[in-house]
Amino acid sequence: MGKPSIFITRRLPAEVVEPYQEQLDIEMWPEEDEAVDRETLLAEAGRVDGLVTMLTDQVDEELLAAGNSLGIVANMAVGYDNVDVKTAENRGTAITNTPDVLTETTADLTFSLLMAAARRIVEAGNYIKEDAWNHWSPLLLAGTDVHHKTIGIVGMGRIGEAVARRAKGFQMDILYHNRSRKEDVEDEIGARYTSFDELLENADYVVSLAPLTDETRHMFNAEAFQKMKDTAIFINASRGALMDEKALEKALRDEQIAGAGLDVFEEEPIRAGHPLVSMPGVVCLPHIGSATKETRYKMMRLCLDNVVRYFEEKPLLSPVSR
Ligand code: NAP
Repeated sequence: MGKPSIFITRRLPAEVVEPYQEQLDIEMWPEEDEAVDRETLLAEAGRVDGLVTMLTDQVDEELLAAGNSLGIVANMAVGYDNVDVKTAENRGTAITNTPDVLTETTADLTFSLLMAAARRIVEAGNYIKEDAWNHWSPLLLAGTDVHHKTIGIVGMGRIGEAVARRAKGFQMDILYHNRSRKEDVEDEIGARYTSFDELLENADYVVSLAPLTDETRHMFNAEAFQKMKDTAIFINASRGALMDEKALEKALRDEQIAGAGLDVFEEEPIRAGHPLVSMPGVVCLPHIGSATKETRYKMMRLCLDNVVRYFEEKPLLSPVSR
């Protein structure tokens, strides 16, 4: 039997992919910056034994049905809201994601975003670029403190815990909300479990780190923003659709909350003309939570290791469903 064939939906670095060519017959979409078009993706799904997909690819019923001999889809993200897991399970297609390897890197970015929004770092950098720094004044670019404030983490999972450890270093009070309590985290980090509403009412920084599911879609809506302090800063580092962007815009405009740090948006990429981009007190980033070279390489290798193990009939390293 020949080597299993796989298609990778973006061009990944040769130094990552080459070592796997011994075990796999690998084809890649030639573009690094541009997603594979749907027609090509469907055709490739019908041709190959495995796919390595990105969060920009919809692994839906149509695609899975096109994959006659498709055994595995290795999704290069920890979130898998772009994958129809139920259909994959019914069809017996294995799905893997990339947890753990990106946890600390994404927590670094989440905390940076919080700091940037609190201390107006992007605005302050632009102030110099615009050559506006020609005086000193007592409240020039004055932000708000982070240390000793209260952080509320919605979604105390792997990344939530890593953010909480950083917050502990800043001597913050840590509140969290999950569907289930995590007593080990409460003991280790000193975090306190609260209802969603209690967290919204008490946190100075409300941080969204729950996955996108039917249950979490738009959980940060007008009602939620209304419950937050008018000094609160909202941080979204999970998925854009957890927030109702229109409601967020209104809450910021009406000064129901003070600011936001956003790495993710309901529809990505956003354009420069998006209303949130130019709002005072808002820092917008282009979905770079796990984007360090080290971590992205680990994510790529984890996808390919899962694919190899699947065809060797070994246990998958990070199965979502098998
Ligand atoms: P994880 O370990 O699965 O943590 C997710 C947490 O969310 C769990 O503790 C879960 O606890 C909680 N949760 C699930 N449904 C909830 C609900 N309805 N209400 C409240 N809490 C809920 O995942 P992770 O590795 O930390 O990653 C979290 C998310 O971050 C990913 O799904 C992904 O969307 C996002 N992410 C973004 C970037 C980026 O580039 N910005 C990078 C990596 C990850 P319970 O089950 O007890 O509710």
